Amino acid sequence: MHMDVYDVAETWSRDRIASTQLVRLKSTVAQARKCAFYRQRLDEAGITPDALNHIDDIRKIPFTTKQDLRDQYPLGLLTVPTQEIVRMHCSSGTTGTPTAICHTANDLNWWSDLMARCMYMVGVRREDVFQNMSGYGLFTGGLGIHYGAERLGCMTIPAGAGNTKRQIKLARDFHTTVAHILPSYALIVGERLREMGEDPHDFPLRIALVGAEPYTEEFRKRIEDLFGMKVYNSYGLSEMNGPGVGFECLEQHGLHIWEDAYYPEIVNPETGQPVPDGEIGELVMTSLCRQGMPILRYRTRDLTRFLPGECLCGRKHRRMDRILGRADDMMIVKGVNIYPMQIEQVIMGFEEVGKNYLIQLENDGFGDVLRVKVEIRDEYFVEDMRQLHKVQQKIARALKDEILVTPHVELVESNSLPLSEGKAVRVHDLRAKK
Ligand code: ADP
Ligand code: ZN
Repeated sequence: MHMDVYDVAETWSRDRIASTQLVRLKSTVAQARKCAFYRQRLDEAGITPDALNHIDDIRKIPFTTKQDLRDQYPLGLLTVPTQEIVRMHCSSGTTGTPTAICHTANDLNWWSDLMARCMYMVGVRREDVFQNMSGYGLFTGGLGIHYGAERLGCMTIPAGAGNTKRQIKLARDFHTTVAHILPSYALIVGERLREMGEDPHDFPLRIALVGAEPYTEEFRKRIEDLFGMKVYNSYGLSEMNGPGVGFECLEQHGLHIWEDAYYPEIVNPETGQPVPDGEIGELVMTSLCRQGMPILRYRTRDLTRFLPGECLCGRKHRRMDRILGRADDMMIVKGVNIYPMQIEQVIMGFEEVGKNYLIQLENDGFGDVLRVKVEIRDEYFVEDMRQLHKVQQKIARALKDEILVTPHVELVESNSLPLSEGKAVRVHDLRAKK
């Protein structure tokens, strides 16, 4: 397959991107046909590489779903002999059984290039000390980002997830300037610093790559203000290697999807038909360079939209908006569709609110109850009940305006809500258990 210089592809023109995509789609289809699953799927749809004359012909290719990947687990989608495989990774299993993806040496090579490209784009340089505060092991946010940082030439600290005290010590001792961190964990580190009587602004971090779970613009601002650093949104999924699929540039206005390596589509989740630019739908992704396990038209279940127009940075790779959530995250409360991020966006706008919150869905025998538990920062958790009551009412009113359902807002002390080891769990649905 086609392996050329990826750092050049970052600045390709639209024409160059489009023509390369068609060539790569054809070779990806040829490669995919080497496994029985895709050969049968593609034969049924009458798809051979020669049947693809324009990139839009990709729409004739059937979708691949997470269920397909689960059915083909562990090696059903392999398109090279097993001895060609040098690494496997799994999804986190946030929504069920994890899926496994296998990589050749070449696959790892261009993945590292893409990751390095993302980091360079936001100003990370080889002089930086990079601390990866995300879980290693099967999770792609560990080694995936790690290899990118090394490719760039940064001194890379594989700190892994958790153990906040040690994270802080490492960052201090080695003067960490760039970190990869989950949004929920970033606030925890900041709070720990404060508890230690330190100002997070004095911490050496200048840039954080933040992703792996949805978070809002308000949440970003909080992390940035807390540390006095820049936060760039990083999107990826293990089925498309992992991080390095979409990344914000210095404009912080949408994530560029690296279209030399992935072909993105946004479709109506019900009909599977493309939606116009600017409209929200489900992201569908095709790997264009993967040899070991190519995936065609993967239904990510992630909801976003293409941002219309060109980015001020000049890059021509299309931008997607931050992920609104997973299609599976949608809650139906009293018949109204609500996404957890709508709630986060409102509550994180209040300065009284601390680092954590939890949405709890209940049934009181008469109907749905939406309970939002919100941690309040210590300095506001004063004994004056009237003050707290006012804050609670303010939050409830603002939420009602956004989601059109009146929530029960409960203010709780900091550190009283459960923390997750990995990706944050924002919603507890207790309704089914009634
Ligand atoms: P899992 O789907 O089991 O969590 P992965 O570890 O492969 O498996 O995670 C990929 C998923 O994580 C994406 O499909 C998306 O839902 C979420 N995700 C990753 N990066 C972001 C981001 N920057 N913003 C929102 N969601 C993200
Ligand atoms: Zn840009």
